[in-house]
Amino acid sequence: MANDNKLQAIIGHCKEYGFIFQSSEIYDGLSAVYDYGQYGAELKKNIRDYWWRSMTQMQDNIVGIDAAIFMHPTVWKASGHVDNFSDPMIDNKDSQKRYRVDHLIEGYAETLEADAAAAIIKQMELLLEANDFAGLKSLIEDNKINCAISGTCNWTDVRQFNLMFSTEMGSVADEANVVYLRPETAQGIFVNFLNVQKTGRMKIPFGIAQTGKAFRNEIVARGFIFRMREFEQMEMQFFVKPGTQKEWYEYWKETRMKWHLSLGIGADKYKFHDHVKLAHYADMACDIEYDFPMGFKEVEGVHSRTDFDLKQHQQFSGKKLTYFDTDINQHYVPYVIETSIGLDRTVMMILSEAYVEEDLSTEEKQDSRVVLKFPPMLAPIKLAVLPLTKKDGLPELAKELINDCRSQFKCFYEEKDSIGKRYRRMDALGTPFCVTIDHQTKEDGTVTIRYRDSMQQERIALADVKKLVMEKIAMF
Ligand code: ATP
Repeated sequence: MANDNKLQAIIGHCKEYGFIFQSSEIYDGLSAVYDYGQYGAELKKNIRDYWWRSMTQMQDNIVGIDAAIFMHPTVWKASGHVDNFSDPMIDNKDSQKRYRVDHLIEGYAETLEADAAAAIIKQMELLLEANDFAGLKSLIEDNKINCAISGTCNWTDVRQFNLMFSTEMGSVADEANVVYLRPETAQGIFVNFLNVQKTGRMKIPFGIAQTGKAFRNEIVARGFIFRMREFEQMEMQFFVKPGTQKEWYEYWKETRMKWHLSLGIGADKYKFHDHVKLAHYADMACDIEYDFPMGFKEVEGVHSRTDFDLKQHQQFSGKKLTYFDTDINQHYVPYVIETSIGLDRTVMMILSEAYVEEDLSTEEKQDSRVVLKFPPMLAPIKLAVLPLTKKDGLPELAKELINDCRSQFKCFYEEKDSIGKRYRRMDALGTPFCVTIDHQTKEDGTVTIRYRDSMQQERIALADVKKLVMEKIAMF
């Protein structure tokens, strides 16, 4: 399937099967904001849980917190977001449409041959690195890059545009009361660094993880849940002794890539992209890119943030944020390695990987199915229990099985339609195991278990179902 078609097919499937809806759809939607439906919410929660457990429970020295979305406004001064959290933008004078300069040029590069594309991207990166806005405008004009709406090359100058949303706290709307919706979760970790270190008696190196909403007024929001204005991040800040950041940066690059591969996704679907233009706080940074239907794009960032954030908060708050290292009898401000992954982008990655249209036609008849081949541990529903008929005590047996299993994992009961149709519906929801209860179950206590990916069926003891599913969905 062509990649563009695949993206459209995934969007349609997500809506039809209760995974993801456009926000406020009955009012024609709110751009780049999405709601998760009954199955999407389960999938997202399972991914969040897997990340959380991998990053906290499975580590000796990482703890999780849950900081507020609102923070003192000075936090964002100190972090550099008030002054620097902006992207170079350009407006087309005829259509009034605003573009992120890098997206405009990248979009144009995609229409070129590989060598020409690489050359223009290289030029763009050098200009971005030098903050050369006039040069960026010339690059756009010289290549006659047109606006997709007006079709003209009539551009304003390139300007910076801050991506933070602001609102007022309390009843008086003056400047002193302006608060921001956090554009990243990381700062909630930095300002709690000493609280956690002291109360948890944490010894460097150690990490603090958290998941939560972040908000960015993205100008060009596209690609379904790839780029949203309200989204969720899963971040971990790892505090290390100054001078050891290089080895920890490499460690976390490798560890995070291993996590991605543990999702059952092939190594060929990922690549590292090392940053040429480093953010103001970083001394090394890379993206982990996944091969989305729109091509290789960032799903996670690994950043060596130096001691920038803690030092800034120290300066702006007037509070000491140092650590006393008993091994060397010295106080210092730790360096930080950050791993930052978008939960929604991960949902999209898992959906892109799982979505398969299979042709099952035989010589006798045409047939096909859409199946979501989620890793069982992430599937919204783990087990569907399907009585063959609605009578003869079969529903009761099915419900008994569900009651036995539901404290451990999510089950689904369905008695309508033919078994074949019910299987297909479970395929479309990504349910890895279906169990059919039939008359033989009453006689010998066995059921038919059907495996989603292979569509193989076998008879097993009813009493063994729970154990089998538990083994297959175990995260670790
Ligand atoms: P991009 O270059 O795609 O805008 P970024 O480099 O600004 O992303 P970071 O600030 O490093 O992103 O944020 C960490 C992660 O948060 C990203 O890797 C991505 O998965 C996620 N993320 C960032 N912005 C968005 C967004 N607007 N919508 C959904 N996820 C996002």
